[in-house]
Amino acid sequence: MNDAIMQLIELQQIDHQRGDLASRIKGLESQKEQLRHKAEQERSAVEKLQEHLETLKHNSRMMNLEVDKLDDQIREYQDQLDTGIISFKEMEALRMKISNQRIRIGEMEDKALHLMDEIEETTAQHAREVENLAAREVDLDSEMAKIDVHIEQLRRELDDWKEKRARIVAVLPRHTVQQYDHLHVKFDDPVVPIEKGTCSGCKLTVSGTTVERARDGMEIVTCENCSRILYAR
Ligand SMILES: [Zn+2]
Repeated sequence: MNDAIMQLIELQQIDHQRGDLASRIKGLESQKEQLRHKAEQERSAVEKLQEHLETLKHNSRMMNLEVDKLDDQIREYQDQLDTGIISFKEMEALRMKISNQRIRIGEMEDKALHLMDEIEETTAQHAREVENLAAREVDLDSEMAKIDVHIEQLRRELDDWKEKRARIVAVLPRHTVQQYDHLHVKFDDPVVPIEKGTCSGCKLTVSGTTVERARDGMEIVTCENCSRILYAR
């Protein structure tokens, strides 16, 4: 077999290896991206819980202020009742207001108690989730670090193949490499054997002359149909 053909076959094998490595690297990178995304989602879930907790605390403070305000009003009404010179009708109205405010305070105190319970539960839940998250982050970081090591290893392999490829390219005629590269853009297998008189790339019959020229191995022969480089086994 023609030397150039043997080198082209080797070049194709190297390119297959490179393609395989490149797609494995891509797969690992997307795996890493998924882990990063997962970590982000988990962090944001804990942040949301924290925000919810802050809102509950804020609502609780607001409710206490509201109760204090109602308390102050009751005291004010009581003062007016005790010291003011007011009509019986006004006194009745004040008493009614005081009674309504007390009912309102009672309701709010119930709500405030529920809220305190919720704050307590949420605080405990948040603490648990913060702890879980820290553990998860350690796990995810170590998984990502492992992937990085793997990617690094594959990149080194890829570099080795690139060097091997460069060595072959250096000994091949320039136009042959160009011909191969041009075909490689279209086909994964630019160099194929002739099998039972057909090009094993496009599966079409090649002429008898082509088969003979390929068998002679004196030159580079191509398929009349798809232009792939042919060789006889
Ligand atoms: Zn063909």
